[in-house]
Amino acid sequence: MNTADTARPLSATGRTELGRKADRGLADRASLYAVLDAGLICHLGVVIDGYPVVLPTGYGRIGDTLYLHGSSANRSLRAADGQDVCVTVTHLDGLVCARSIYHHSLNYRSAVIYGTARAVADPDERMAALEAVAEQMVPGQWAAVRKPTRKELAATAVLALPLAEASVKARTGPPGDEEEDYDLDIWAGLTTAALTFGPPEPDPLLRAGIELQEHIQALSKRTSAPL
Ligand SMILES: Cc1cc2nc3c(=O)[nH]c(=O)nc-3n(C[C@H](O)[C@H](O)[C@H](O)COP(=O)(O)OP(=O)(O)OC[C@H]3O[C@@H](n4cnc5c(N)ncnc54)[C@H](O)[C@@H]3O)c2cc1C
Repeated sequence: MNTADTARPLSATGRTELGRKADRGLADRASLYAVLDAGLICHLGVVIDGYPVVLPTGYGRIGDTLYLHGSSANRSLRAADGQDVCVTVTHLDGLVCARSIYHHSLNYRSAVIYGTARAVADPDERMAALEAVAEQMVPGQWAAVRKPTRKELAATAVLALPLAEASVKARTGPPGDEEEDYDLDIWAGLTTAALTFGPPEPDPLLRAGIELQEHIQALSKRTSAPL
């Protein structure tokens, strides 16, 4: 499903051009998809009634389009339709301890996407988007569970954002201390960080005899760590 043209570079515009630490930028589309596909939460930034609102939410990707979903009463999804929005996805990869406070840092991969959001009305695209969002959260789940009813679909808003204008930035590696500080008797280094999942816990109301499916079992092996 997600076989968009990864060789195509990300479009460099005035607003996606990295200023500080530009060497940490990754300009290829494959890096953008890798950051998005490893994530679960994005932050949608949109101006509502003249003030900026940035809210965390789930998402899914189909090729060159990012899909967000939520209640049809969701204020930010409604405000975003036809508006220029900004979406970010962030992975924390490590805590970097330097010899000075100044050079403490975080290792990360992050993506920033700009574009005009579009409320999705087409029923087929809406259904495909909902599948993408569900699969991003729990791969394999769309096929395993009851599909949305017409009433549930009516209560759901779906927003599409083209993955045309985006930037990707990553920090890796040890601290970068001041030359003279390397002689200090202070521990320096890093600890890696990644999102991991515990073992599945059955719903207390789960009927007896229902077996745990493989794709749910697989969740506890999932990690946000870079490949
Ligand atoms: C987990 C995490 C922690 C961070 N902590 C700090 C911190 O404590 N202090 C700090 O100064 N910076 C931190 N950064 C980096 C921060 O995101 C900015 O890149 C940096 O502060 C430069 O900001 P700027 O306003 O000068 O952006 P500019 O470089 O001027 O931004 C220009 C354009 O570059 C792109 N861009 C900028 N930053 C990112 C990014 N992170 N990912 C993808 N595209 C980007 C956007 O398209 C943006 O419009 C952190 C990043 C992450 C992911």
